[in-house]
Amino acid sequence: MTDGPKYGFDTLQIHAGARPDPATGARQTPIYQTTAYVFRDAEHAAALFNLQEVGYIYSRLTNPTVAVLQERIATLEGGVGGVCCSSGHAAQIMALFPLMSPGKNVVVSTRLYGGTVTQFSHTIKRFGWEATFVDFDDLDAVKAAIDDNTRAVFCESIANPGGYITDLDAIAKIADAAEIPMIVDNTTATPYLCRPIEHGATLVVHSTTKYLTGNGTVTGGCVVDSGTFDWSANDKFPSLSQPEQAYHGLKFHETFGPLAFTFHGIAIGLRDLGMTMNPQAAHYTLMGTETLSLRMERHVENAVKIANWLEKDDRVDYVTYAGLKSSPYYDRVAKICPRGAGGLFTFAVKGGYDACIKLVNALEIFSHVANLGDARSLIIHSASTTHRQLTADQQRAAGAAPEVVRVSIGTEDVDDLIADLDQALSKASS
Ligand SMILES: *Cc1c(COP(=O)(O)O)cnc(C)c1O
Repeated sequence: MTDGPKYGFDTLQIHAGARPDPATGARQTPIYQTTAYVFRDAEHAAALFNLQEVGYIYSRLTNPTVAVLQERIATLEGGVGGVCCSSGHAAQIMALFPLMSPGKNVVVSTRLYGGTVTQFSHTIKRFGWEATFVDFDDLDAVKAAIDDNTRAVFCESIANPGGYITDLDAIAKIADAAEIPMIVDNTTATPYLCRPIEHGATLVVHSTTKYLTGNGTVTGGCVVDSGTFDWSANDKFPSLSQPEQAYHGLKFHETFGPLAFTFHGIAIGLRDLGMTMNPQAAHYTLMGTETLSLRMERHVENAVKIANWLEKDDRVDYVTYAGLKSSPYYDRVAKICPRGAGGLFTFAVKGGYDACIKLVNALEIFSHVANLGDARSLIIHSASTTHRQLTADQQRAAGAAPEVVRVSIGTEDVDDLIADLDQALSKASS
């Protein structure tokens, strides 16, 4: 089928990017389990290597199964192109790589997935990159943090671990004024709940490991480009606007226009960094995307019921779910993610750190794991696990204080989940 705005989300999540297999007519996208592709002749090979013709050379760069997933996620996000990679963390490096160079910085929200905080505060320094952490609710602080060496701002739409909602439109305005792209990690919202490009995002990154696959089977990531940023407006983005020596002086933006970032991601990023998604992983994630909206509806429905139940419970101090009327982020839900505030939030257990440990040990249906976005309900005590590497101040700023647990509400029977929480809270508070 041809993709396009005339089809609704539920149709696109099944069909976008896919066609009956040209060789066999197979209706489901085959797993093209191959490393290399035979060239028609020597001229064909040369044209492919010169980027004069688009086609398959080697699966570190492109693979037909992965290509379907790239097109599907890009379509669901309303972008022009996508590049899949081996994990969400790989996607974050792939998004920053064409923008950054030694001495450049990215202004990032304090409310991020714990692994991202670590990646940005330690590992990217080895590339000579810096991240400046700011509270993205403080718009003046975001503005003040941007300097001549800033090449992007980075935040999550529905932010870890508390399920806070970022005011994407307000951040996009600041990024626009500074002539830098806004990168949004849309993992916890998915394009069903939030479409960051409609709120001014230049790039959207995903950990497809989570809701897009939906059952905790494979890791993967994706970078989607909106195609709207003018990389040649100034000299800030030479990788995209200036001649590339490795391709005979080709200028990506001049040659590929709105697809410049996507082509760069494949021709340079995947070619040289090698953070490639394998075709098996793409297959599992394609299966997941087919039911994305159905699952997200149930995740949201269950999360609303459970958050309301917890908020009324005496054994619980507070609940951070943005879908609660009491949340300071409640008004942003309608604007940023009109189909609901997702399935991720934290709650504080009376009794603090020790009660949280007892709670996670006592739960029977909820699994104690470092993951989210599974059909199964998951729980984690962030302060003793994912956010362990952070200082106490960083933990609080990130919404991972010692007295809170983070839940990723699954699609099970909500009454069973509430009963499980009820028995475990009794044990935790005894
Ligand atoms: C899991 C996650 C990541 C990292 O993704 P991996 O696939 O584990 O590398 C990044 N951002 C968010 C919001 C996540 O939940």
